[in-house]
Amino acid sequence: MNLETSLKEEICVICQNFISHEDTIVVLGEKGSQSVNKASKSRQDNVVTSVGQKLHQNCRKSYTNPKYIALANREIKHETTNVPKLRWKVEFDFKKHCLFCGQLADAVIGRKRKSDVYPVRTSEFQCKIEDICKQREDEWALEVRGRLEFVQDLHAADALYHQTCSVNFRTLQTPLAFSPPAKKAKTQAGRKSSLSESFFVCYKIPSAK
Ligand SMILES: [Zn+2]
Ligand SMILES: [Zn+2]
Repeated sequence: MNLETSLKEEICVICQNFISHEDTIVVLGEKGSQSVNKASKSRQDNVVTSVGQKLHQNCRKSYTNPKYIALANREIKHETTNVPKLRWKVEFDFKKHCLFCGQLADAVIGRKRKSDVYPVRTSEFQCKIEDICKQREDEWALEVRGRLEFVQDLHAADALYHQTCSVNFRTLQTPLAFSPPAKKAKTQAGRKSSLSESFFVCYKIPSAK
């Protein structure tokens, strides 16, 4: 039989698998073919079918199901609008953020000074930091160095810093409070998982005593 032999070599264009004898298949009519092609278009796919083509019945069903199409499109959108992980680096502003910790340094320069924010006053400051970066060679140093790459002269850029951050950095300390903004954003976004995390903490405390 001609049909039998052609069945063996047939590939379902949707799942890219061979169509075997046991599979429930559909032979596309004109309407069926059109609906698959239409679904392919709305999925921004390049599946093209023609009349008489064989597909797995389940594949055709889910492929042309509007719900699945919407879902697939949402995934595509999500991929393209994916926020780069290092977004905070782009948003970093020397005039607004502490060059060490990257957090907002909300000082009013020249007048009332909130907290311990200072502007970079000398060009030597930058050389010092670069030296310390080389000494530290840790994650924090990498971050700071990354920021320095954006400016020629910190002094001219009116860069700000927290006094405590500066001291911690220069004395080669890594304060517990310091956590890279990238990591912070991650935990904020994953709030749902914080429940299990806090459970872990509660669980650990009695055993630590
Ligand atoms: Zn299939
Ligand atoms: Zn700081």
